[in-house]
Amino acid sequence: MKKFFLPALWVLFYLPGCKQSQSCDYPYQEVPFTCVTLKDNFWMPRVETCCRITLPHIFEQCRQTGRIDNFLIAAGKKTAPLTSFGFDDSDVYKMIEGAARCLALSRDTVLERAIDSLIDVVVAAQEEDGYLYTHGRATGMKRWKGERTGSHETYNLGHLMEAAVAYYQVTGKRKLLNAALKSADLLYTALGPGKADTIVPGHQEVEIGLIKLYRVTGQKKYLELARCLLDRRGTSSYAYAHEWESPVNHQDDRPVRQQYEAYGHAVRALYMYMAMTDVVALSKDTSYLSVLHRIWNNIVSSKVYITGGTGSSSAGEAFGAPYELPNATAYNETCAAIAFVMWNYRMFLLHGETKYMDVLEQTLYNSLLAGYAMNGKAFFYPNPLASDGVTPFNHGDCKRQSWFTCACCPSNLVRFIPSLGGYVYALRGDTLFVNLYAGNHAVIEWNGVSVTVSQVTEYPWRGNIQLTIDPATEMKASLALRIPGWAMNHPLPGNLYRYTDKADTLFNLAVNSLNTAYRWERGYAVITRKWNKGDFVDLVLQMPVRKIEAGEKVKADSGCLCLSRGPLVYCGEETDNPQLASLCLSREDIFVPEYRSDFLLPLWGLSGTAYRRNRAVPFRAIPYYAWGHRGCNAMKVWFNEKENRETAGKK
Ligand SMILES: [Zn+2]
Repeated sequence: MKKFFLPALWVLFYLPGCKQSQSCDYPYQEVPFTCVTLKDNFWMPRVETCCRITLPHIFEQCRQTGRIDNFLIAAGKKTAPLTSFGFDDSDVYKMIEGAARCLALSRDTVLERAIDSLIDVVVAAQEEDGYLYTHGRATGMKRWKGERTGSHETYNLGHLMEAAVAYYQVTGKRKLLNAALKSADLLYTALGPGKADTIVPGHQEVEIGLIKLYRVTGQKKYLELARCLLDRRGTSSYAYAHEWESPVNHQDDRPVRQQYEAYGHAVRALYMYMAMTDVVALSKDTSYLSVLHRIWNNIVSSKVYITGGTGSSSAGEAFGAPYELPNATAYNETCAAIAFVMWNYRMFLLHGETKYMDVLEQTLYNSLLAGYAMNGKAFFYPNPLASDGVTPFNHGDCKRQSWFTCACCPSNLVRFIPSLGGYVYALRGDTLFVNLYAGNHAVIEWNGVSVTVSQVTEYPWRGNIQLTIDPATEMKASLALRIPGWAMNHPLPGNLYRYTDKADTLFNLAVNSLNTAYRWERGYAVITRKWNKGDFVDLVLQMPVRKIEAGEKVKADSGCLCLSRGPLVYCGEETDNPQLASLCLSREDIFVPEYRSDFLLPLWGLSGTAYRRNRAVPFRAIPYYAWGHRGCNAMKVWFNEKENRETAGKK
């Protein structure tokens, strides 16, 4: 048996438990989720549900559907038919990544043993030279040639790399990481600089995995390979048989630096932008930067729903044309919401501007969360903004399903949800940034001092947030509080949507109960002072119920209103509102929060008045994320405005 060679850098980058990265790559550094213990009633139950219910559910689905058997078949240990899709390997990897996150939150020896055994099964399917792709090994197909027609060999490898890094960082175990590195080395030899220059990944993802390998090993060749694969896009032409194989759908019709808008398959595109952002941060080469800004602006100014959903078209799971934002047929894949959150976080880590966190928050609380049922065992793949309660929009059903033949979304949620605490705080120099508001207890190495930061809040139901700052010793430092765009009269950056009213100052800030001086920096209210044990900061964000209308170019929402409160978008369901389709709203009416205990997780809905043929009727709204929990049900986010009912046409 070969002895494992341990490069010196590994000791530096191995981050068991709660430690912050020593390597300065992004200018803003996240405070890892392992440093932040959620203690709230909104996210903590979901993280617990994810680890306790969703993770075992997905493990079982991977087992029952034959995804784990694929590895045994490839290793010659079992004879059975393979599953339908080449990318099914990735669900197993994403599940391992989710398990790593859950183990980081709570070390569970039974789970760890199960994952260790699963890793043995995975690694046994790897070929001698590092090739790991169950469908390829089992069928003997030609390597890499299928990337353009949907083999997903490199997509699987990307998720293998991400899972391997996550599992290594939590457990210190290297078996899966060694396998991932072996695959990466093979990929470098097969498709690296100067090799096989007609092949690019068919579904971007491996670039992200390679960059994670670079960050954990310090070996530049992985970053170099990621960059080579990005730069190779759009440099060759090839014949294709089906529209979904077209280079446009793959963002491979032109070099990435010549891409001017978000187009093609949304998840592929967003994973590509994530990798490009990583390259800018890690290589200090800013040549992708103008592309990223251009595309981000293109999305927020013409291709995003009020829920933060993106990728409006079910044809090719793709971005639509500018302002093509239909409601009932909106695709808005849950994976696209996850990717949009992850990309916006990278853009924040690069630039330190609140606008990226505003988009992240809107997507997180609305389009992303809608994909995940409160019981942790049912999922939406698309996330439309209207449903007639009958059309089976969710891959054959009109309610959430416990699994899909193409199961990317459930396994993506299981790796994302447990990492939520990592989006709350970030650091740069002597400044601690508070990006999300959620009750938690964090221990943070801030400005060279160990500081316990506690956040008490009932966000998103109430906007009162109290932060207690407990430094080990007195410390002069800055605290930057994100004042959300919704509290500054902007429902989302980009001017696609606007509030129907103008509110005055919607926040107040105090330290130790005294109003405090602060300065504005990139959307943050920054307080610089000497912090002492027990200092507390009160941020009060007013959360009135507000109505939103879309800009004139969004034809699907023309003459319509939607309801919002804080970061939450609301919808109406037929169960609460008979003959939902015929209801209108008035911009003058007042809506009030209404406590609802008839859901698995309690929530605050809204109650007020709607109109049917100009007759007032009682109206109840619930947060958009909560729709579809009571069976197939008609739902709407946008309602015709009362006065415009005659002219607005059918929505
Ligand atoms: Zn998906």
